[in-house]
Amino acid sequence: MRTLCFTVDLDRDVNIAIPGGIAAGSIDRGSGAGPRFSSAGKGLSILSDLLDELSIKATFFAEASTLRKMDSSLLSGHEVGMHGAEHEDLTAAGIDEKRKIMEESMAAVKDAVGKAPESFRAPYMKIDDETLGILPEFGIGVDSSRYAEMSPSLIPEKIGGIWEVPVPEGRDSLGKKISAYLWPMHESKRVPEDYLQMASDMKEGAFVIATHTWHMVESRDKGIMSKEEAEANAGNVRKVLEGMMDMGLRPSTVAEIRKMMEDRPR
Ligand SMILES: [Zn+2]
Repeated sequence: MRTLCFTVDLDRDVNIAIPGGIAAGSIDRGSGAGPRFSSAGKGLSILSDLLDELSIKATFFAEASTLRKMDSSLLSGHEVGMHGAEHEDLTAAGIDEKRKIMEESMAAVKDAVGKAPESFRAPYMKIDDETLGILPEFGIGVDSSRYAEMSPSLIPEKIGGIWEVPVPEGRDSLGKKISAYLWPMHESKRVPEDYLQMASDMKEGAFVIATHTWHMVESRDKGIMSKEEAEANAGNVRKVLEGMMDMGLRPSTVAEIRKMMEDRPR
């Protein structure tokens, strides 16, 4: 197995934790830190077009509140997994609250795409054993809430009944830390070649790239992108995806990776 797994968090614009509560807000651009969803929606449309052009099926980890505001036809053909209800830090929630969040999140995915989710990513990539332990109750068999040290072999592992499909992290040629979350590229701090270099070190397994829809049109540091900036940003994502496919990595969703692992002869 040598796959490229493009994962996209579909969550509120530039989400931030709000002190005193568990639901996330959006970065304050002058009108308060209440959740905003417009960049998430615009970014989804851009990514949906790009993925269609490249014939890539992606995995969208969708947060319930954001998902309800989206045009769900844009997710057609892609996998939709869970990403909380209000983008909660689940490590700060009790077990009953965790179950409530999972139920709401699962219902939102079913409503939007007519299919129960199979995979999960914790908001902020913050996960604890209690959360992992209840995932099977909701039919979730794959988690992608962790980082894993970059290595020539990135074969998913089954931990406690759940397949873990982690996001790789390692060091670039200058020794600087890099993960396959495209965040710094959207903030003009990394170039596509950095990620291609990283992926070229994988000889077998699943190379998981992660991003957010809002990051296609909004920078955390610089605010809403101009049309030209957003086009250049989308061009960079295209370079990453095309470059990895040129290396022979085959696109797969997280659920497809689980299936490949379970069907594998042993
Ligand atoms: Zn998120």
